[in-house]
Order: sequence, then structure tokens, then C-alpha cells
Amino acid sequence: MLKLDKYLNLKTKHGTVVRVVREHYLRKDVPCNNELCNKFCNKGLDCIPSNVSHILIPDCFVARTFAEILDLPELRGLLFLQTVLHSALHDGSRRTYNRLLGKVHDGKSGCAIFANEFCEDIYALQESGEKLEDWQFRLVFRSAEWYFSHLDKQKPIIILTENKEVSPLFSL
Ligand SMILES: [Zn+2]
Repeated sequence: MLKLDKYLNLKTKHGTVVRVVREHYLRKDVPCNNELCNKFCNKGLDCIPSNVSHILIPDCFVARTFAEILDLPELRGLLFLQTVLHSALHDGSRRTYNRLLGKVHDGKSGCAIFANEFCEDIYALQESGEKLEDWQFRLVFRSAEWYFSHLDKQKPIIILTENKEVSPLFSL
């Protein structure tokens, strides 16, 4: 396990900005929650089944903005990253966050959560001058790459994004 110090600027209710340090632990054994996994991950209750055609990873903007569409029962095989759920809660609303969680936990949706920010091979600190959205997208992309290789490339992965600037940069 690896420990990182994460610096955050938090605003108090009086408007003062306070710099705090949080310990962030990274692990090698974060479960992928996918039935196709051959790597002995613990399979949780909410797992992506092997019969989905693709694994869909919405980015932060798509999850926050199109939660209603993502919630359609026809859409299965969605993988919600910790980065994305965190953004839905903090940059979106609790309602959106609960809707996405509800989709994962309904037992029939074939969707899962992946705690990408605790995964040693994926996590990267936000670089100085890097915009929050760019850093979040970088984590989403690194997660998709890792997940594809972790599943031995058995299933295509699609990142759902509206970001026209980053998509050519990251396309393979
Ligand atoms: Zn796995």
C-alpha cells in the first residue's frame, strides 16, 4: 500500500480558504467488479455481467448532465468511476448522485462502481495549473485503459464524453 499526501483548499463558512492535507492510500487489489475478471478480484454484489456487449464509462460531465438517460433500463454495462460519482455529488447534486447509485444497486442494471482513485496503477495527482476537468478526464481515461487491460481486452470499452477537445487527444 502506498500513501500520498493530498493537499486541498477548503473554504470555511466565513469565506476563508484553509489549506489542509489528507492522507490518500493506494492499493494494488482494488476489485474491478466485473464477471469477466480472471485476476481473482473479490466479486461484489453489483457486478458487470459477462453478457453485455460493451462496457460504458461516462465521464464526469456526462454523468452529471445526462443521469436521466443513463438511468434508462436499456443501458446496461455502465461502469461508474469513483472520480465520476464524486463529481456528480460535489459539482452536480445529491439527487443526481443518488440516481446513479440507485441504478447500480437495483440488481438488474448490470452496472458497477470502480474505486479508481484507490488504485495504485491509475491514480495521478492533479498537476499544478491543470484544470479540474482535465485532471478528472485524465483519471477517467487512465481507468478505462487499466480496466481494458485488467480484463485481458475481452470487452470493448467506450468512454461517454461530450468533450471534443480531449477526445482526439486520447483516442487510440
Ligand atoms: Zn478484476
